[in-house]
Amino acid sequence: MAAEAGRPKPWIGIGAIVSERERGKTRDQSGAVASGITVGGHRPDPTFAAQVQEISSQKIAHCYQCGECTAGCPTAFAMDIKPNQVSRMVQMGLADDVLSSSAIWLCAGCETCATRCPKKVDLCRIMDSLRQIATQRGVKSPEADIQKFHETFLAAIKKTGRLHEAGMIAALKLKTRKFTQDIPLGIALTMKGKMAPLPPSVKDRAAVKKVFDKSGSGDPHGK
Ligand code: SF4
Ligand code: SF4
Repeated sequence: MAAEAGRPKPWIGIGAIVSERERGKTRDQSGAVASGITVGGHRPDPTFAAQVQEISSQKIAHCYQCGECTAGCPTAFAMDIKPNQVSRMVQMGLADDVLSSSAIWLCAGCETCATRCPKKVDLCRIMDSLRQIATQRGVKSPEADIQKFHETFLAAIKKTGRLHEAGMIAALKLKTRKFTQDIPLGIALTMKGKMAPLPPSVKDRAAVKKVFDKSGSGDPHGK
């Protein structure tokens, strides 16, 4: 879970944000910076904020950088860019930077940020959308094992409609090649009857397939 060792500190800070604002760049309705300029040497994608807004149904432009989300986030300490910075970078259209960050994969989906946000921006859903876009674009996460966990989890749900823990763990171990990690936890879960030997299934698998198709994640590996 720790951020990748040696990874550079986020280049974006209040100084970059203020200077960009002071230069009075034009913005589209979602808050994205118009094309043809660079921010901190990075070229923004002026359509990115609108794309994230469409997928997440969140008004990202409403974020005014109060930092309440970051202050309450239980995994912010391990993120390379903090939740409020993710929001700002989406507004600025810095797609490549935000999609390749560890932050979007270290988000635990706990909804604390959404609860604390005075502007009713659900950053948790934005993080979901960013993971979706990163997967669709084939962007590799610096937290490779977490990305593999997400892929394996979605593949398991797509197959049977419900999670089969034992099967998912086996598939995950094959992907990560970390066969001995978590053995004590696996034994403890088995002893407590938390690891069903046979996979469960839902009756209406077609409905599950529809959910994946509708989300554009027919293939959870994004291929
Ligand atoms: S709490 Fe809301 S308004 Fe404040 S920085 Fe986070 S997303 Fe933006
Ligand atoms: S949902 Fe994600 S970004 Fe929001 S507080 Fe929880 S871990 Fe942090």
